[in-house]
Amino acid sequence: MTYRRAIFIAVAAICTAAVAVAWIKSVRPPEPRAACRGDFSSPTACNFPGDNVGQAALDGTNDHGGGSPNRRDSVGHDPTYARHLAELKKKIPPEGFTVVVQPPFVVIGDESPEMVHRRATETVQWAVDLLKKSYFKKDPDEILDIWLFKDKASYERHARSIFGTRPSTPYGYYSAADRALVMNIATGGGTLVHEIVHPFMRSNFPECPAWFNEGLGSLYEQASQRGGRIVGLTNWRLAGLQEAIRRKRVPSFKTLCSTSTRQFYDEDPGTNYAQARYLCYYLQEKGLLETFYHRFRRQHAADPTGYRTLQEVLDRDDLEAFQKDWEAFVLGLRFP
Ligand SMILES: [Zn+2]
Repeated sequence: MTYRRAIFIAVAAICTAAVAVAWIKSVRPPEPRAACRGDFSSPTACNFPGDNVGQAALDGTNDHGGGSPNRRDSVGHDPTYARHLAELKKKIPPEGFTVVVQPPFVVIGDESPEMVHRRATETVQWAVDLLKKSYFKKDPDEILDIWLFKDKASYERHARSIFGTRPSTPYGYYSAADRALVMNIATGGGTLVHEIVHPFMRSNFPECPAWFNEGLGSLYEQASQRGGRIVGLTNWRLAGLQEAIRRKRVPSFKTLCSTSTRQFYDEDPGTNYAQARYLCYYLQEKGLLETFYHRFRRQHAADPTGYRTLQEVLDRDDLEAFQKDWEAFVLGLRFP
């Protein structure tokens, strides 16, 4: 093959891959509207005993967290939160925002005050409590802001005016630099629970590779609880993964585990998130996910990719043979 021909083939391959990635992104269906059992319009969805946001909240509609004094509790008087809220106040637009303190977060939203409070309890508090129960001992080191913008226009406008960024995703993102989760909440609470995983992972398992960080985050895009533990359900990522399995396009777990952070995000063959998610889902269904997380965290220095821990937890040396079983398992799943 001539040098020129080789260059041409390489460029053509890159262009094809770029078009394929753009296509996959463009056909990504909207995420479910809620994190828990699918529907925020149901007043009982994810409404769990022990919710106490009424006491922990600072109702700051239109006055940036001033609120009525009788709604403040000890958190409201915590000097760390008071300082944080004073700084936050400078960023919040003058009209239409509600602020709810939901430790370790502050939730700021421009939906109705009632809805912002419901998001704070039924999604944020629910997810935080259950994630801590299963995985995370430590809260994030700093108070983080969760910005819930009511629609696409609000999300894009405020991401630009408050953070000076143009979001690369229509759903939402976590910015460690801004100490903020920035969400278009009209696309559903699923992305919010996904993003809540990341700051907890950062404070509890900072060495965690992207494949497991994103696998666990995306597992809870569609979440419920079973036996008092948070569980991920099948979701929109399933169909694309099943198609890739049928076409034999899913990389080996050795490849997935060994991807660097940059490779995971920038060289995604289109299956990274789904493959990682449904590996976590498989582990969950076999009762092994929490064991995997805790063991991987303990021995990451000796096993930075998690591959060996995966072999141990699955009790399988041959992960190529395991992959065949896993693929059959995934092909047997259904969504919805
Ligand atoms: Zn993520």
